[in-house]
Amino acid sequence: MSIRTRLTLWYSFLLGALLLVFGIGLYSYISVKLFDSQDREMASLAEEVINRGIQSSSNPFTGELEFTWSLSFRFSTGYAAQIIDPASGEIKRSTLPRNVVIPHSSESIQKAIKDSFYVVNEKGKSPNGTDIVWRIAYVPFSMKVAPDQIVGVLQIATTIDNTLAILSQVSRFLILFALLVIVLAATSGLYLSRKALKPIEQIIRTTGQIESSEDLGRRIEYKGPRDEIGRLTETINSMLDRVEGTYRELEESDRMQRRFVSDASHELRTPLTTIRGNVEFLEKVWNQERSGGSLSDEEKRELSLEAVSDIAGEASRMSRLVNDLLALARADSGTAMQLEELEIRPIVEDVCRKAALLPKKADWRIGSLEALTGAFVRGNADSLSQMLFIFLENAFKYTPEGYVVLDAVKAPRQIGIRIRDTGIGMDKDEVPHIFERFYRADVSRGKTAGTGLGLSIAKWIIDQHGGSIEVTTRLQEGSTFLIWLPLSASEALEAGEGPIPLADGSNADASADTDE
Ligand code: ADP
Repeated sequence: MSIRTRLTLWYSFLLGALLLVFGIGLYSYISVKLFDSQDREMASLAEEVINRGIQSSSNPFTGELEFTWSLSFRFSTGYAAQIIDPASGEIKRSTLPRNVVIPHSSESIQKAIKDSFYVVNEKGKSPNGTDIVWRIAYVPFSMKVAPDQIVGVLQIATTIDNTLAILSQVSRFLILFALLVIVLAATSGLYLSRKALKPIEQIIRTTGQIESSEDLGRRIEYKGPRDEIGRLTETINSMLDRVEGTYRELEESDRMQRRFVSDASHELRTPLTTIRGNVEFLEKVWNQERSGGSLSDEEKRELSLEAVSDIAGEASRMSRLVNDLLALARADSGTAMQLEELEIRPIVEDVCRKAALLPKKADWRIGSLEALTGAFVRGNADSLSQMLFIFLENAFKYTPEGYVVLDAVKAPRQIGIRIRDTGIGMDKDEVPHIFERFYRADVSRGKTAGTGLGLSIAKWIIDQHGGSIEVTTRLQEGSTFLIWLPLSASEALEAGEGPIPLADGSNADASADTDE
């Protein structure tokens, strides 16, 4: 059952109950008032009859008291009187014709004697023989000569058919009135509750549509005041905003994950295909040899060497790729990096030393590392080295001539490690993308070996250290990568530079500037 129907039913039921109480009250009040005035009339009539109309005398022979009904007393129209002997219950006198009596019972006589006045309604016959309802007042009386002896009970009676008719009309009116009010109230209640609950129905409809159409962009339109329903609408709408936001994020991360998996599979397939091709080639060469092939030993050795070196090259490329993928998978799993207080200079120097061994065509120079002296960061030594190697390997890879230089700069609360090269550089439009997974700039694609994963790993490491990165590059002129790392809190305090935000990755905003 809908709230609307329930509300209306409750409302009508309560109103009905209220009207019933009111009706009964009003009916009782009217009937009491009507009968009360009649009873008072009968009481005064009885008094008058007893005082003026009844004469008593003592029978000279028996000594018994006798009554005389005064004919001179003009009895009020509409009333009848009757005197009953309380001992025998006999009718002694009556103003009615002989064939008509006022109904009486010994019970009522006893009650009247006890209370000195008693009124009761009883069915009987009218003087013309029709059925009527009498209202009868019983009034016991005694004579002056013997005030303690009840000599008779006077009955004053009147027909109350008219009063009963009025009362039945009143009750009919009250019932009709109540029914009308209930019907009106139920109808207006239905209308009002429909009006009040309309926005809720709209909410149900819209949320239903959102559910069935899966259109999370829909919102509940509500133009009313900011009452309970207004606030409910607001809450649901903001909840939908959040659900939509989370859903879009999940969709985006799902899309990225799929792209990552498909790119990774694609990247892994290339070396595998080369390895398989070479293995098949070798197999063919050796099978031909077994069946007495025509190749000379020298030719066989050269072919085999070529194939094996291809296999080795691809295998190491694959192993690099798998390592990179593992690093990124770790990054995706959300495990926080173990950080500790580190002196940065020895790490950078170690990287510089090992960098001399990397394959390169450009001149390798180490600039001033003075800014790093005594500088401490909260970091992970292995990850920091890995990150610096990524930038250096790239610099060597993309610098066919000229030089690559690493130096350090200092800024308030942070230190910068700068890697500059005079290599191929990049188009400024590509800079925002180079940190994306598998992204390779146009100039390097197909010309230089690479997976497009290095910078995304480097960016993740910088993020984990709460650092940032600036890129300055010009096509065919070279690039500069400046990595900013926050100094550890204790050191910044010693230097009087005030507290620094915690390096929790949340403020890691890798920025990319270009210099055109
Ligand atoms: P890759 O394995 O291709 O080097 P990275 O993620 O390390 O992948 O780099 C992404 C792309 O950024 C590279 O493909 C290259 O186009 C560009 N890039 C990176 N470093 C340099 C640089 N020092 N000079 C020019 N281009 C660079």
